Amino acid sequence: MKKLIDAYERKIDYLRISVTDRCNLRCVYCMPPEGIGLIESKEILRYEELLRIARIAVAHGVTKIRVTGGEPLVRKGIIEFLAALSAMEGLEDLSLTTNGVLLKEFAKELKGAGLKRVNVSLDSMKRDRFIKMTRGDNLAQVLEGLEEAHMAGLRPVKINMVVIKGFNEDEVLDFAFMSKSKPYHVRFIEYMPFNTQEGWQRDKCLTAKQLKEMIDAVEPLIPVTDTSGSAGPARRYKFKDAPGEVGFISPVSEHFCGSCNRLRLTSDGKLRTCLFSDNEIDIRKALRDGSSDEVVEHLLFKAVAEKPMGHQINENIFKKCSRTMSLIGG
Ligand code: SAM
Ligand code: SF4
Repeated sequence: MKKLIDAYERKIDYLRISVTDRCNLRCVYCMPPEGIGLIESKEILRYEELLRIARIAVAHGVTKIRVTGGEPLVRKGIIEFLAALSAMEGLEDLSLTTNGVLLKEFAKELKGAGLKRVNVSLDSMKRDRFIKMTRGDNLAQVLEGLEEAHMAGLRPVKINMVVIKGFNEDEVLDFAFMSKSKPYHVRFIEYMPFNTQEGWQRDKCLTAKQLKEMIDAVEPLIPVTDTSGSAGPARRYKFKDAPGEVGFISPVSEHFCGSCNRLRLTSDGKLRTCLFSDNEIDIRKALRDGSSDEVVEHLLFKAVAEKPMGHQINENIFKKCSRTMSLIGG
């Protein structure tokens, strides 16, 4: 079967599916306090529609799927959906990104559904700051969720920390050192520009290089040379004899567009060709008007063909995209 390859010879084998725009938190860099205008339920793709797209994408070379949101664990039926995905022949890697609030409750069921690993977003381990950053008082639940996920056998448990200058950079070492006492993979993500109320300023974004220097100055990080893990664009390191890892993801300072293998599907059925481009291809209409698989397939190929070479965050012409991460699916 013909594979999804874009105009720049990049093989597209990774699909991110956002299953909902709803969320039980309101992170300052992602949503305004009142939340965002919710997409009407009838506009959200049903699970059978998502599975149809996934099946067609897998038939054309997608081997990795990440389920995200909004907060994926707030959508009813998510376990059954993940079980159906994990049973899909040809799909080699299935993962989930969550804010961890409901992880304790769902960890065993997630494992039972066939999920292998989980990414948990956590930006502060101080209760007051967690409240300020997420506008929710759920730190204890997230920390318990991390433990429960590990105990349930989800491996590795990755912790994603978005670092914002003047907000949480004083916790970078605490986060990095978590990998010395627990087998977690702690990853630092550069703060990216989206259309959020708080606004993005370049000087609030600490680069991966700066973050690594901060850590190295206290204890040197050793590069991880084993490439078997599912690191994606993360640069991987570890401390000597540590059970866990430390990673850096630098979408702003050193973008990885040249090796981008992703396509994103929003919860209302739009294929996005790049996280930072507002170019969207509507796939929902075809799913609902009785179109054949060939038509859906054609739209997937069209999205891949329209993938831009790279984002333009670092150029003067860059415009923040109109959707926030919660609507795109991070
Ligand atoms: N609700 C889930 C969560 O928070 O993990 C999944 C969706 S969330 C949109 C996915 C990821 O996007 C999170 O790790 C979050 O920290 C990240 N994110 C959202 N806005 C961001 C921004 N402006 N810069 C960097 N990362 C961002
Ligand atoms: Fe919700 Fe995730 Fe956005 Fe935070 S980052 S508001 S948890 S979707």
